[in-house]
Amino acid sequence: MREPVDAFIALGANLGDPVQALTHAMAMVGGLPHTHITRHSSFYRSAPVEATGPDYVNAVIAVSTCLCAPDMLEQLQKIEQSAGRERSTRNAPRTLDLDVLLFGSARIDSPALTVPHPRMTQRAFVLYPLAEIAPEWTEMAHSLGMAAQRIERIEPP
Ligand code: AMP
Repeated sequence: MREPVDAFIALGANLGDPVQALTHAMAMVGGLPHTHITRHSSFYRSAPVEATGPDYVNAVIAVSTCLCAPDMLEQLQKIEQSAGRERSTRNAPRTLDLDVLLFGSARIDSPALTVPHPRMTQRAFVLYPLAEIAPEWTEMAHSLGMAAQRIERIEPP
């Protein structure tokens, strides 16, 4: 058995019932073999980036996992598919998007997987929820500024 690794996963959706989709997806990720959720951010509402369509709901979770990164990606893609995700055009609206942001200290550059996620530092909808559960990212999140990308925390019901 591999040693557990702390990984961060971003969740987003802007079709159907995004809050329900993210809640369900978190439960699915937490139920993966040798994996458990250690922290989760609030939900955030954000404007689509480089795209049109409804606002997104976003969140970030931290997991401790003994899966290797490619197996984790494969499992996340199965969860996306089970949520009815169709891969159409880039940045198309989606029922569920799951991205591996960080996987321990791993640096991965394979055709299927780039870690750290190459666009994570440009996206307020990733950095704000990430900073909530990993405060070392707070300065980076604030340096982006709220003005560039509309994002707001959704108050818990
Ligand atoms: P997306 O449309 O954002 O779901 O992009 C999914 C594609 O990005 C898949 O083909 C993945 O193999 C690839 N990919 C590369 N790096 C990552 C990553 N860190 N997390 C998730 N998908 C990734």
